[in-house]
Amino acid sequence: MIGIIRKVTYSERYRRANIHTARCNFRCLGCSYKLRTEEEGKALAPEEVMDALRNLNLRRVHFIGGEPTLCPDIEAIAEFCHEKLGIRTKIGHSTGWNMPPEHIDEMNITIKAYSDDLHKKYTGVSNRRVLSNFRKIYSRGVVLSASTVLIPGMIDANEIERIARFISDVDPMIPFHITGYIPVPDIPWRSPTQSEMLEAKNLAEQYLEKVSTSWFESAEDYTEMVRRNPRYQSIRVL
Ligand code: SF4
Repeated sequence: MIGIIRKVTYSERYRRANIHTARCNFRCLGCSYKLRTEEEGKALAPEEVMDALRNLNLRRVHFIGGEPTLCPDIEAIAEFCHEKLGIRTKIGHSTGWNMPPEHIDEMNITIKAYSDDLHKKYTGVSNRRVLSNFRKIYSRGVVLSASTVLIPGMIDANEIERIARFISDVDPMIPFHITGYIPVPDIPWRSPTQSEMLEAKNLAEQYLEKVSTSWFESAEDYTEMVRRNPRYQSIRVL
């Protein structure tokens, strides 16, 4: 599967451009993109993206998805960011299925599950390649962070603990973020309670130094947070 670039947004406050790619090779049952109504749109050419970046006052560029590493154009754009603009690059979230191209400084990998059977059930694929890439990417010197989603009845606190233990074996200083599941249509799971979030956080903190969480009771609460939080305020430039 080949990914495409579908839009570029810009946050003046953070001097950051987000390059949004479309398409993903995982089939997560609880994929939050099912909550989106936006069309994929036409693919943007890397040259037009670079032209747009050249005209912005930037400190950083983030590639977000879908799965950004499926998009072959991010390599040339990341190189352009380093060589021509002198700014940092990050893959904002990734499955870890592919190694990042050169010129990526930072990467966040979402580890859906540590137990392979659970990972297959949830995403449709084995996680062995993800876990192996996680170690390789760290060894390459990319600044790595990790995240996961707590889903009561599917990815429970004890599974979060297994993920945290795996990450700590790579480096206990790697930041780890736990998101509470936000229900998506046609899937029976519920959001975790605050005490379930706390339990997962406490278990992860037995292994890792930097554990954070985010939790919303409903998709409406999440949408409201995105509307208000300055981190998400941006304008579309392409
Ligand atoms: S990896 Fe992310 S974008 Fe891909 S299916 Fe899973 S939740 Fe959705």
